[in-house]
Amino acid sequence: LPEYAFIGRSNVGKSSLINMLVDRKSLAKTSGRPGKTQLINHFKINKNWFLVDLPGYGYARVSKKDKKTFQKYITEYFLKRKQLVCAFVLVDIRHEPQPIDMEFMEWLGSNGIPFAIIFTKADKLKSGAIEKNVKAYLTKLLASVWEETPPYFITSSSKHLGKEALLNYIEEINQSLNPNDL
Ligand code: GDP
Repeated sequence: LPEYAFIGRSNVGKSSLINMLVDRKSLAKTSGRPGKTQLINHFKINKNWFLVDLPGYGYARVSKKDKKTFQKYITEYFLKRKQLVCAFVLVDIRHEPQPIDMEFMEWLGSNGIPFAIIFTKADKLKSGAIEKNVKAYLTKLLASVWEETPPYFITSSSKHLGKEALLNYIEEINQSLNPNDL
């Protein structure tokens, strides 16, 4: 089955987003304690695709050794997993483009891995500020390697925003896939 990977800095709101998408509050644990998701978790959705929860990156309090291990898992997954269709990179809408996120997207791009951006915690900003921060990311991406900006989604797990758009996007890709490729 096709897989869609979700990844981002710790505390970006990944667990909350996954809970919103999966609709079962107990599935991914949220906590005030960043860095808790440490392994690759698969959630089967609608019997036809997997949501893949990848470890968060860039959390300062994780030891160097753990960081290396995370990196190895993530790298292997992205480079070798045939079922992977698209990566969703989560970024907190409140922040300007962060080097670690930019680097990661550039790495995905240079390895030919399709990705989309999910902006999280949209309830925390007014629409003007949301537009400004989204634009900052897209402009920066255009300035680096790409001629086209990736698809993006604006979400809020606490206000339950962006779920339909995201799930529709995934379903649309699923329908265009050739089952023999997976
Ligand atoms: P993870 O470490 O990326 O899995 O992040 P979590 O889902 O555990 O969320 C980290 C913190 O951000 C928690 O305190 C959440 O309650 C909060 N949070 C997550 N999503 C949202 C959101 O959409 N809006 C708001 N206001 N807070 C959020």
